[in-house]
Amino acid sequence: MNISVLLPLVFGKSFDYRAPEGMDIKPGDYVRVPFGRKSVWGVAWGEASGEVEEKKIKSIEQVATHLPPMSKTMRTFIDWVAWYTLAPSGMVLKMALPVPAALESPKVRGEGRGARGKKITASSSTLDPRPSTLSSDQQSAATSLRTKLDTGFSVSVLDGVTGSGKTEVYFDVIAACLAQGKQALVLLPEIALSVQWLARFAEGFGFAPDIWHSGVSPARKRETWRKAAQGEAKVIVGARSALFLPFAQLGTIIVDEEHDASYKQEDGVIYHARDMAVARARHEKIPAILVSATPSLETEYNITHGRYARMHLPTRHNEAELPEIKLIDMRTQALPTGSWISEPLKAALLTAMAEGKQAMLFMNRRGYAPLMLCRACGHRFLCPHCAAYLVLHRGRARLLCHHCGYETSPPKACPQCKEEGKMIPFGPGVERVAEEARALLPDARIAVMTSDSTALGKGTRRSKEPAKGSGDDPAGEVSCSETGGSVPLEKLIKDMMAGNIDLLIGTQMIAKGHHFAGLALVGVLDADMGLAGGDLRAGERTYQLLHQLAGRAGREKTKGMAWLQTYMPEHPVMQALLAGQRDAFMALEAQMREDALMPPYGKLAAVIVGGKNERETAEFTRMLVREAHKEETGGKRLENNNLHSLISNPLILGPAPAPMPLLRGKYRYRILIKAAKDFGLQDWLTRWLADLKIPSSIRVKIDVEPYSFL
Ligand SMILES: [Zn+2]
Ligand SMILES: [Zn+2]
Repeated sequence: MNISVLLPLVFGKSFDYRAPEGMDIKPGDYVRVPFGRKSVWGVAWGEASGEVEEKKIKSIEQVATHLPPMSKTMRTFIDWVAWYTLAPSGMVLKMALPVPAALESPKVRGEGRGARGKKITASSSTLDPRPSTLSSDQQSAATSLRTKLDTGFSVSVLDGVTGSGKTEVYFDVIAACLAQGKQALVLLPEIALSVQWLARFAEGFGFAPDIWHSGVSPARKRETWRKAAQGEAKVIVGARSALFLPFAQLGTIIVDEEHDASYKQEDGVIYHARDMAVARARHEKIPAILVSATPSLETEYNITHGRYARMHLPTRHNEAELPEIKLIDMRTQALPTGSWISEPLKAALLTAMAEGKQAMLFMNRRGYAPLMLCRACGHRFLCPHCAAYLVLHRGRARLLCHHCGYETSPPKACPQCKEEGKMIPFGPGVERVAEEARALLPDARIAVMTSDSTALGKGTRRSKEPAKGSGDDPAGEVSCSETGGSVPLEKLIKDMMAGNIDLLIGTQMIAKGHHFAGLALVGVLDADMGLAGGDLRAGERTYQLLHQLAGRAGREKTKGMAWLQTYMPEHPVMQALLAGQRDAFMALEAQMREDALMPPYGKLAAVIVGGKNERETAEFTRMLVREAHKEETGGKRLENNNLHSLISNPLILGPAPAPMPLLRGKYRYRILIKAAKDFGLQDWLTRWLADLKIPSSIRVKIDVEPYSFL
């Protein structure tokens, strides 16, 4: 008997193999097959194509009898993800089989043998969480979410201000899920930052969840993968890649901070983990719960259109008040050169320190200065592989590219005019802000928290593309420093919790779900920064980030303050934050997107063409666009920008050099495809790209629903 086998390789199809006499193979079985000169683990996918000559068909070598087969649901989900993202199905399977060694039979223990079809049983002793004291709002949200566990697929949005106790609510739902003998998956945007979350989980449930992200060791991954497949892992908390684990009996998926941009995977298979979580829940016929204080516009759209249900948690738990927000109009502040903290913010910092409270300063730039400049001739240091300035990291005395990881020492003499001692750092980064803060507060205990992934991450990327399909959360790439030297992130968070740090200065990562009881003041030095550039979601993201930052302050009894330095105090984002008018702001954003037929009101796909040869890349991109026009208009160029015509024809924008025209040594062009909401974009893209011969020197990346506009 022959059967087709999908392999975790770059191919978009399965291959025919023969099941030897006496080997009973059913779809879903994990099988090892010869492929080229190697032996590869894959999954029996379905009927053989019958297109291969019988004598050329090779035999399956081994079947993993100690594991339950991959479910039909999971296989359908993998095929669906491949269709949706236009990625080869083999690459999607690779995300579900990231540790092939997990498929080998256990050598020492007999444990797990004969686990095929094993029923999952809940051992009730560990599954009852401690009776938690939920407020009546929390209780009613939890009760209605619990009922969803019995009603198949649904999506609920747990919407509540920071500090309103959303976590306790979904812990309650997890407890109910476990009591039914099912598994729960929780996605968090930054596992490495989730020390407090894990502690609360352990306290509530009496056991630690299994953790899944790129920083977990292969041995641990192998074990967690097996536990997921055999139903032993009750709760898995993970980064986006956890979504592809082969759970034996998944009961619910929870996506915390659903609006977080890090849920979008940009390398390998390009997908949005929130959207894929909803898709997996739909395939599994289970409830998905999206959690946020500032739900994304996509989620709001789905609520408005009746697809998702909203559960509100209106107040802060423990009677804590929301922080007071104040805008500092930087146009009226005359800051001396090399200074970034305004007078009012300085005064507020001094007061907070004098009162023994903690403070936080946010600036979304790593390093010391974003640019090194020659004062004599104006020379600027550029990355040789990217269209980007090199960032000065003074602590390490290096110039770094934040895009590809290239690094070099700052030279003594200017490479252009050969003058010595004329190089100056230009603009601020967190290290420089820390320097200013130390001068202002010489007695304060100050720490810096940043993600220096390109600087200190294992395996500096240089001019290489990141490994395909291996992309994951930045969790394993975190570093931070306390007065210069590097300290583990976990220690830094614990020090902050214990009150051993007075002032924490950092980038995005200080905004994540931390709960620092003593934190009274949050100062944002560059509140406007995210608003620059042509990003579709710039306003929404800035609002979410600033709201999340402000929400760190005043978590308990102390009244919190969030002071935002801005050059645009009249901007709708700033005004909405000031007035606490989230819904009005989101309605305005929604209107703008609807008018422009942009997502979520329309569909968008980006095609990024990259190559080492600039002319060849540009020519290939132009050819792609010509083919696209042919595809829909029979060779006639479509000039009509009438939005209603998009129902039957997508609008092809470009080609244009990408905003980042040179990245990791490759020239980049992009094409945007815009279409109406009910247009079959995937099928159109598939048709367009089906017959194309792509030269080996050129990479074509397709990003359905792009979030990055680099
Ligand atoms: Zn010079
Ligand atoms: Zn670079």
